[in-house]
Amino acid sequence: MATWQCIKQCGACCHLDPADRPDLEEYLSPEELGLYLSMVGDGGWCVNFDQTTRECTIYEHRPRFCRVEVETFQDMFGIEPEELNDFAIDCCRQQIEAVYGDRSLEIIRFDQAVGF
Ligand code: SF4
Ligand code: SF4
Repeated sequence: MATWQCIKQCGACCHLDPADRPDLEEYLSPEELGLYLSMVGDGGWCVNFDQTTRECTIYEHRPRFCRVEVETFQDMFGIEPEELNDFAIDCCRQQIEAVYGDRSLEIIRFDQAVGF
């Protein structure tokens, strides 16, 4: 069984371009949507994303919508705790494929890490 984990040197979910995420208003509060949009920087990347290290520069203080946590996903997407693992894997795969491509090193590394 595949088990979700976040891999190093990825950051695909930090590509925030709203054009690629048309449903933002459905799962973000108006305040969160404002915060989200304020974080969109050059090329659609989050202003808090260090593109050299591919790490979040505010990791400990990142917004709720950046966190893969039971409570957050239940609240934002109606995902039950037992569904979170598969849902998170799907989210990551979609985002990695969209940002880096479906034959990218990132998707290969992710699939290997989670055992997909
Ligand atoms: S897309 Fe998934 S694996 Fe990649 S940085 Fe985001 S949470 Fe981690
Ligand atoms: S705040 Fe951090 S985790 Fe959230 S999108 Fe920006 S760089 Fe990624």
